[in-house]
Amino acid sequence: MARDTVDLRSDTVTRPTDAMREAMMRAELGDDVLGDDPTVRALEERVASVLGKDAACFVPSGTMANQACVRAQTEPGDEIVAHEGNHVYVYEGGAWAAVSGCSIALLRGDRGMFSGEDVRRSVRPDDTHFPRTRLVCVENTHNRGGGAVWPLARLRDVTETAHGLGLRTHLDGARLWNAHVASGVALDELARGFDTVSVCFSKGLGAPVGSAAAGDASTIRKVRRLRKMLGGGMRQSGLLAGAALHALDHHVDRLAEDHEHAHLLASALSRLPGFRVDPESVETNIVYATIAEGSVAGGAAGFVRTLSDLGVRILAVDNQIIRVVTSLAVDRTSVARAIEAFEAAASRLCV
Ligand SMILES: *Cc1c(COP(=O)(O)O)cnc(C)c1O
Repeated sequence: MARDTVDLRSDTVTRPTDAMREAMMRAELGDDVLGDDPTVRALEERVASVLGKDAACFVPSGTMANQACVRAQTEPGDEIVAHEGNHVYVYEGGAWAAVSGCSIALLRGDRGMFSGEDVRRSVRPDDTHFPRTRLVCVENTHNRGGGAVWPLARLRDVTETAHGLGLRTHLDGARLWNAHVASGVALDELARGFDTVSVCFSKGLGAPVGSAAAGDASTIRKVRRLRKMLGGGMRQSGLLAGAALHALDHHVDRLAEDHEHAHLLASALSRLPGFRVDPESVETNIVYATIAEGSVAGGAAGFVRTLSDLGVRILAVDNQIIRVVTSLAVDRTSVARAIEAFEAAASRLCV
């Protein structure tokens, strides 16, 4: 990819900054599978502490964090409750079925959210005919919901209802950092009421690799065992944990910039003929815009191709929806360049 390409495909495209690479070089290392990598231990303690949990386990990916938490809290034949747009359901290769042997009761709701009452209605009666409802999964921020931040009262409604019904609760917090910065609510408050929480360091925080699962000590012991079983036990992984610790120190508050950039990009898209997006609904770093049918030659794919020729990369979700994501990889100058490219592409393609 050309050096000056503006990459808005995802917040996973970031590369470690020079300062992060230096932190990685300086990290003290051991063998983490044998339990003596001091940097991994420091990261796990730090993550458990900021999320208000007993323990945490460093894993290679958010998918492993989520699916190990699902497996640790279910038995084959159990049922999970999740929104139909949740990453756990849509984007993890069907691991909920393949790794945990579960079924999923899917909920609908605006911007990836649902209510305690929705959870109550999804629970199966205690009868040998039915799967046992066991675990509720929430995603905050919600990726397919346009980076939406769950209001605290809705989170409490869901977790309290779930616990009242004897269910476990899991939070996919791949972008919990974004929810924290956008809402001003402390991370441990956002994590409260969840038995397990996953977080990613490789999205907006800008680390090259890594996620963590946090929860009570006995569940995280199970997660650690599952990590080994799934092939995620890493050795001198302090090299990676060093990047994550650097990110926690230096890349959390700056997410506010990504949110501001996403708002600017959404506003620019909203001014193009045939494009529909409400900039006021963009709370964090993800923008989805809908292109009215027949208004752009080649639809979303045509728009994405033309932008790519102009040095700006975004994703087409389908032939009417585009996705634009801001991150550490995109500064204010790049945002201005992207907006110029949006306008140039639209002037070529809008019919
Ligand atoms: C990216 C992401 C994950 C984890 O993805 P990996 O690529 O496996 O690290 C989990 N949940 C959400 C909402 C995500 O956006």
